Amino acid sequence: MDTQIVKKIIEDVVAELGEADNTMPVEVSGRHVHLSSEDAEKLFGGPLTNVRELSQPGQFLCKERVRLIGPKGLLEKVAVLGPARDETQVEVSLTDARLLGAKAPVRQSGDISGTPGVLIASERGIVELKEGLIVPGRHIHMTPEDASSLNVADKEMVSVRVGRVRSVVFEDVLVRVSNSYRLSMHIDFDEGNACSWTPESSGRIIKKRK
Ligand SMILES: [Zn+2]
Repeated sequence: MDTQIVKKIIEDVVAELGEADNTMPVEVSGRHVHLSSEDAEKLFGGPLTNVRELSQPGQFLCKERVRLIGPKGLLEKVAVLGPARDETQVEVSLTDARLLGAKAPVRQSGDISGTPGVLIASERGIVELKEGLIVPGRHIHMTPEDASSLNVADKEMVSVRVGRVRSVVFEDVLVRVSNSYRLSMHIDFDEGNACSWTPESSGRIIKKRK
């Protein structure tokens, strides 16, 4: 065999082995709402009730649920996540946005300037959100230690292969590094269904080969 070909095969095998440890859990986030304390007060008359801790430390699912009302449709029993934030933000999939009849852009959490609003209703109140309806951009939470072992940096955009049966390579995945995070990639249900996601699914960062 041509030595060049053998060399290429060896390089490819080494590169594969090098990537073997680069796996991370992948979680699917359903549609949900983050409320400001003021909006939580308007909707529920008091602070939010923690019913279950989520994978990211300090984040929790609330007992409270809301109804989202858009120009064309509504979504019932939408999850509320705590703790309260400075600004209310609603995160839905593109399928949900279409159902609501709203043109929600893909944005990273917190980047809500110029996004559409939506009505958020509870049994006792209604909040007219002026802006804050987004389709969350796919991202990975990790600690500085994870970042160094995965050889990536905060705010870096990477590609990640997810799934086995019908794997998909997701591009433009934002790396978010903080000591308060736990390693996990977050995608929404449209993306999860696209790659036949199950709770056992894992993702692998793909480095561009030169
Ligand atoms: Zn996340």
